[in-house]
Amino acid sequence: MVSDQPGPTAPTRQPGPTAPDDGAALEIDDVTVAYAPASAGDEPTLAVSGVTLDVAGGEVLALVGASGSGKSSLLRAVAGLEPLASGSIRIDGADLRGQPVHRRGVGMVFQDGQLFEHLSVEGNVVYGLRSLPRDRRPDRAQQRARIAELLELVGLAGMARRPVTTLSGGQAQRIALARALAPAPRVLLLDEPLSALDRALRERLAVDLAAILRAAGTTAVHVTHDLDEAATIADRTAVLDGGRLLQVGTPADLWRAPATREVADLLGYGPILPADRLGLGAGLVALAPGALVALVPGEDTPPDVVAHLPATPVARRHVRGRWWLDVVLEKGERASALLPEGGDAPDLVAVGVVGSGVVRVGE
Ligand code: ADP
Ligand code: MG
Repeated sequence: MVSDQPGPTAPTRQPGPTAPDDGAALEIDDVTVAYAPASAGDEPTLAVSGVTLDVAGGEVLALVGASGSGKSSLLRAVAGLEPLASGSIRIDGADLRGQPVHRRGVGMVFQDGQLFEHLSVEGNVVYGLRSLPRDRRPDRAQQRARIAELLELVGLAGMARRPVTTLSGGQAQRIALARALAPAPRVLLLDEPLSALDRALRERLAVDLAAILRAAGTTAVHVTHDLDEAATIADRTAVLDGGRLLQVGTPADLWRAPATREVADLLGYGPILPADRLGLGAGLVALAPGALVALVPGEDTPPDVVAHLPATPVARRHVRGRWWLDVVLEKGERASALLPEGGDAPDLVAVGVVGSGVVRVGE
C-alpha cells in the first residue's frame, strides 16, 4: 500500500474534526478590498475599507451587515479569492500574502452548498480531502473512518451512500459543512449557509451549527444578516456597514451599547431618538421592542415609565396574545406601544417610555 503517512516535513499534529482547540488565530489587519470600476474614469468600489478584526483560535465570529456591506468580499479576501488593496491577513501569525487559495488551509461553505450532484454524500465529503497536500491525504481506511466521523458530527450518520440529489436543503448544507471540515481547515468561512432555508429550519440548524463548530474546534467566521442567528452561532458579532466595521462584541455588548444608529437599527431597536426628547441630556437613545406603553387616558401611568412622548394613534394590531398600538411620534417617527390587557386607546395623546427599554447609542 502506498504510504499516506505524514512525511518528515508535515506537521506532527493532525487536527481532527472532533478535537477542540485546534483552531488557528486569524488576524485581519486594516484590510481594504477594492473592485475595479465598471468603466474607465469611474471610481473603484471600496467593498471593504480598513477593517481590523482578530479572531482567536477556536473562536466563532459572526459577520453581520446589510446586503452590499462587504461581508462576502472580506471572506473572499481571507480565502485568497480577492486581492487586498491594502492591509494584511495572518493565520497563526503567518502572513497570507501571495499564498494561493489551496495553500491557506481555509474552508468555505456557501449559501447554496454547491454539492456535486453526480456524487454520493461520501463522494462529496471525500472531495473535500483533495485540498490536502498529497502527503497528508488519508488512505482508504482512514478516509472511511473520517467520513463516518464527519457524518456523525453533522448529524447524518449512515447516509454515506445517499445520492446528494435526494437530500433536503438542510441536509445538503450539513454535507457541505462536512466536506468543508474534511481537510480540518485552519479557518472555516461560512457565507450565509442558512439563508436559503425557511425560517423554522434555519433556527433549528443554527443551534446544531453552533454545536458542530464547537465540537470541531475550528476557528470560524459565519456571515449572516440575522443578528439572532449570529448570537446563536457565534461568540462575538462584528457589524459591517458600507465596508466599514461599526462594532464588534458579544451579543450582550451590542444590545447593551450599540455603537451607532446603524447597529441599533440592525438589532431591531426603534425608534432611535435624541435623548433630550426623553429628558435624558445629549446624544441618541434607542428604544427596545416593548419599551413603549400606551398611556390610556383616565388610567394610572405604570410605575416603570420614566418619560412621556406625545403620540397619535394610527392602528391597533394583535401579536401573539397582546394588543399593540401603532403610533406616530412628534417628529413623524413610527412606533408601537403595548396596550394594557384588553385595552384600546383611540383618544390616546402620549405613550410612556419604560426605563429598562432605553439604551444609549454610541457610548
Ligand atoms: P455582502 O456580501 O455584504 O452583500 P459584497 O461583499 O458582496 O457584500 O459587496 C460589497 C460591495 O462590493 C457591493 O457594493 C457590491 O456591489 C460590490 N461588489 C461585490 N462583488 C463585486 C465584483 N465582483 N465587482 C464589482 N463590485 C463588486
Ligand atoms: Mg454576500
